[in-house]
Amino acid sequence: MIATPPDIPRLATELQRPQRRSVAAVLAPLRELSQTSTYCLGNSLGDFRYGTNSYSLARFIFNGPPGGGDPIRLGVFAGIHGDEPAGVLALVRFLRDLAQTPELAAGYRIFAYPICNPTGFEDNTRQSRQGKDLNREFWQASEEPEVYLLEQELWTHEFHGIISLHSDDTSEGLYGFVNGPDLSKDLLEPSLWAAERFLHRNTRLMIDGFRARRGLIDGGYSGILSPPPEAKPVPFQLTFETPAHAPLHLQVEADVAALRCILAEYRTIMSIAPNI
Ligand SMILES: [Zn+2]
Repeated sequence: MIATPPDIPRLATELQRPQRRSVAAVLAPLRELSQTSTYCLGNSLGDFRYGTNSYSLARFIFNGPPGGGDPIRLGVFAGIHGDEPAGVLALVRFLRDLAQTPELAAGYRIFAYPICNPTGFEDNTRQSRQGKDLNREFWQASEEPEVYLLEQELWTHEFHGIISLHSDDTSEGLYGFVNGPDLSKDLLEPSLWAAERFLHRNTRLMIDGFRARRGLIDGGYSGILSPPPEAKPVPFQLTFETPAHAPLHLQVEADVAALRCILAEYRTIMSIAPNI
């Protein structure tokens, strides 16, 4: 029996209240899903403290039906900037939808981290309560507990692909960063195209200070959430950006469309690869 679908508009309204946001309230639909769906497991990466409060990083693992071979491991990360709720809600929605139509995730094991910066999420700030932009701290001996816990995950699971969901309040359209092997571009382009059903693409030649081509930027900032520097083979890496000032529900739709597209496209690429 699948849980009643969470009401995304209601969750979105919850986020717009002036009081401190509740991590537990936003993740409740996924906790429920992990108890009612045989495909979804929920647990915590570990606890850490800010003052007198204890926090943990939640992880949900979605095991799709077998696809003939070892599962493809994807890491999907959202909410590393605490004031970007679209990706958080999109991941809630994406996993809930997969539980209804698990064949979309056939052959995949999806490791989802919906709120990577819980104190920033509560405070509605980009930074953690420590004042750190956690997405500039990876693989540089960071002392931030959130970064340490996520680095452990990136080490342990040797993902085939890493997807980060963000929103940009300086962009009027969708765009994304690619890193890793060339196929990252082959995945970002169709996923932007899929998301364009809901929001326009940013087609400027410069976005966020980077040279861009039809919303695609090669490279990006140092210290962003990424695979270990020694990772072999190097996973594909996509950072998907929605325009933060667009209606929240459209950003959620765009993210979900992009994620679904990536599942389909990467499966196709992998099925062709042994024959090339
Ligand atoms: Zn961001």
